[in-house]
Amino acid sequence: MTRRRSSYRSIASLQRDNRVCRACFEAGFPLESLPVVLGYSGQRAYMFGQAPGIVEGQERRPWRGRAGKTLRRWLAMDEDTFYGTFYCASVTRCYPGRPASGRGDRTPTPREQELCSFWREWEFRLLRPQLVVPVGGLAIRRLLGVTGLAACIGRRYELDDGAAAIPLPHPSGASSWVNSPANRSLVERAVDLIRVEVARLDGG
Ligand code: SF4
Repeated sequence: MTRRRSSYRSIASLQRDNRVCRACFEAGFPLESLPVVLGYSGQRAYMFGQAPGIVEGQERRPWRGRAGKTLRRWLAMDEDTFYGTFYCASVTRCYPGRPASGRGDRTPTPREQELCSFWREWEFRLLRPQLVVPVGGLAIRRLLGVTGLAACIGRRYELDDGAAAIPLPHPSGASSWVNSPANRSLVERAVDLIRVEVARLDGG
């Protein structure tokens, strides 16, 4: 049974409950993995994806598949640097399975997104990340309320608490958006902005 306290004082206790969360399953949604929750090891930036893929669901670790490799290539980070820099979480944290069409992964429903936002809200309260990187249209929409990649990739936003938010498109290869030269240069601009913020965190 899913346990959600009215208040959390540490990320460790939040993660303990998040790792065994079954809220969507209890609400009737067909999840195909347990929650994917990366251990907190002092990361100061927050990577916010859409949902784990099949590989991540099996390994119970975020960004393990091809998309993760592309993301690290964009950021020019090896695995240790990537996982040491970014606390990685997502709009929903269990592998949602395939859609009826059988192509790609099922997009989590608005109800699942809502159920899972509990964990992110508490992570933000406890970790107070100074840099948040929403990855892909769904995460960008949830965090910033912005629709359309061209409108936001390459831009820096500021959240209510003063944290920087710098969106990236999803690196899964499912979308051809990143293939055009103009869009690729927007991605490069976003990566430059992220580097500046990460350097600021490291120096702070
Ligand atoms: S997607 Fe989120 S809210 Fe739903 S069961 Fe998994 S961890 Fe819980």
